[in-house]
Amino acid sequence: MTTEQTYVIVGAGLAGAKAAQSLREEGFDGRITVVGAETERPYERPPLSKGYLLGKEEQAKVYVHDEAWYREHSVELISGSQVTDLDRGSRRLELDGGGQLGYDRLLLATGASPRRLDVPGADLEGVHYLRSLGDSQRLREAIKGGGRVVVVGAGWIGLETAAAAREYGCEVTVVEPRPVPLQAALGPEMGGFFADLHRAHGVDLRLGRQVTGLIGDGHVRAVATDDGQEVAADVVVVGVGVRPNAELAVLSGLPVDNGVLVDASLRTEDPDVYAAGDVANAFNPLYGTRVRVEHWANALNGGLAAGKAMLGQEVVYDRPPYFFSDQYDVGMEFSGWFEPGGYDSLVVRGDREEKAFYAFWLDGGRVVAGMHVNLWDDGIGPVQNLIRAGVPVDAERLADPDVALEDLAKS
Ligand SMILES: Cc1cc2nc3c(=O)[nH]c(=O)nc-3n(C[C@H](O)[C@H](O)[C@H](O)COP(=O)(O)OP(=O)(O)OC[C@H]3O[C@@H](n4cnc5c(N)ncnc54)[C@H](O)[C@@H]3O)c2cc1C
Repeated sequence: MTTEQTYVIVGAGLAGAKAAQSLREEGFDGRITVVGAETERPYERPPLSKGYLLGKEEQAKVYVHDEAWYREHSVELISGSQVTDLDRGSRRLELDGGGQLGYDRLLLATGASPRRLDVPGADLEGVHYLRSLGDSQRLREAIKGGGRVVVVGAGWIGLETAAAAREYGCEVTVVEPRPVPLQAALGPEMGGFFADLHRAHGVDLRLGRQVTGLIGDGHVRAVATDDGQEVAADVVVVGVGVRPNAELAVLSGLPVDNGVLVDASLRTEDPDVYAAGDVANAFNPLYGTRVRVEHWANALNGGLAAGKAMLGQEVVYDRPPYFFSDQYDVGMEFSGWFEPGGYDSLVVRGDREEKAFYAFWLDGGRVVAGMHVNLWDDGIGPVQNLIRAGVPVDAERLADPDVALEDLAKS
């Protein structure tokens, strides 16, 4: 294939880098330009709240491709440049430095940004968010010597940060408005597992509590909660979720609703504009609805799929969402999807006390999601097979470690 076409990818994160890789692997030999607002070349974010934050994983390991890869694959990377406008009529993008870029096909891989805490004192020094390499470096400097850390929000980022801060010897308090950590993602039972885990490691969990303000004079010194308490803090880490960076789609009149709306081939209603990764709210045929996924594997696989789709290949992106996390001595993988509270039973197979088990979320007798904790021999593959099989399973057999999960997928 020899083409004069220019494919532009906005957003130099994992999804953008994987889309560029996919375009080249699939034989596209036109021009590929990746524009990214950050000064770093594309990198993976999971280590930023785990090994990299703990100083155990070196920076060189976080990048998606080494520096030479871009040159060797003729992928033009424009770093430190924000795309400020998209005109679909003339197929042009505007860059913050005043430059313009034309495209024949475009991928929006602009990811997501942390939601800001909207309380008095939120802009005091010592208040951290965690999204970029720089954020992780600054947070590491702030917690590596110990001290009092208050984490706002008991989602994945908040809990992983709490675990890292405990490992550095900090006193850690987590403030969360819901009754258990990770309630929306896992529900109360498995949220309770993570509550026990953190308590066992000395974290003070303030559940069912809202932060009403941050107190300090220049630098934060305490966090006020809605029960009238003040929790002393040298460092505050805010992990209250992210919002998709969908501004360019909005500006250009593309449909946006909790992210850029795309079909199962990751295409917007404009046949030349695609979206992948955290910013995309994609129709997933496995669920018959749109699902916006904020996880590493979705950026990786969605980026690869978008590259193919941009080349006109038949693409049906129907993977069950997948997520992993490491906290203390717990490594886990989760796969599947349900609306918050959208399951009617939970089945555990294995030993919860020993932190070695599977958990399955069922709806109408069918497995809609599953997780393993520290069971790496079989991992998450059998869980995904059960989800895809979509067959009713017997709860007693599902709980019985002597019954092969593969057999249940056939039932
Ligand atoms: C600290 C941390 C830990 C995580 N840990 C896990 C984990 O353990 N497991 C897991 O599954 N997931 C994890 N995630 C989530 C995972 O990293 C994200 O799902 C993934 O990074 C999404 O990739 P993306 O390429 O879609 O977006 P991003 O990584 O957000 O990249 C998008 C890029 O686009 C740039 N950009 C945005 N707008 C513009 C514009 N207008 N012009 C130019 N550039 C622009 C942004 O600056 C950014 O660099 C973690 C995330 C964080 C922050």
